Amino acid sequence: MKKLGLLGGMSWESSIHYERLIHEGVREALGGTHSADLIMRSVDFAVIEKLQARGAWNDAGDLLAREAQVLEAAGAEAIVLCTNTMHKVAPAIEAAISIPLLHIVDPTAEAMSQAGVKTVALLATAYTMEDSFYVDRLASLGFSALVPGPAERAEIQRIIYQELVQGIISDTSRAFMVSVIADLAASGAQGVIAGCTEIELLVSGEDISLPYFPTTALHAQYATAWALGD
Ligand code: GLU
Repeated sequence: MKKLGLLGGMSWESSIHYERLIHEGVREALGGTHSADLIMRSVDFAVIEKLQARGAWNDAGDLLAREAQVLEAAGAEAIVLCTNTMHKVAPAIEAAISIPLLHIVDPTAEAMSQAGVKTVALLATAYTMEDSFYVDRLASLGFSALVPGPAERAEIQRIIYQELVQGIISDTSRAFMVSVIADLAASGAQGVIAGCTEIELLVSGEDISLPYFPTTALHAQYATAWALGD
């Protein structure tokens, strides 16, 4: 089994789920007392959030690249960046390390392909919905993404930063997300990407009728399979 380096804390509310999901996946595959071989680096999300808000993406990329190097030096054989948004700086991280970064979009696209979904609703931070890094990677893999309008994007951003990363799960916010999904379904979305790792803490596949692509679960499953050499 290979050793994974988890670069998390963005936020810890979702990265603790990554760790649990990867351990559960290894137990399921190998049985008995087996567990994953992990190195965890959890950053202070307040520092990351300030860099995001200032648009200081180069600084954020440098910071995460240094942390990825720490994981590599400690023996990690691949990096799992436990956030969608910070994949915006994936190229800076990849340039700083000699081990692979297991990109979050790849298992998400694979799951959509298996479900026969081509056009998908993308619910995520404003950075992920409005910047091209995520949508372009999906497009390069043959998928098109629909994002909500400006008012809905602002409310989703508020829900993520004011509630979910602070451990607040609200029925009102869940109902709002479900209504946004219904609107995007009416515009042609055939499935939904929970493109922020905390969204699946709020909305589960049972809350909606479309195929659901929860990125934390899909990324953790992909990392587990990679570690096990599948
Ligand atoms: N975890 C979130 C994501 O998947 C948002 C927090 C962050 O900006 O990293 O995008």
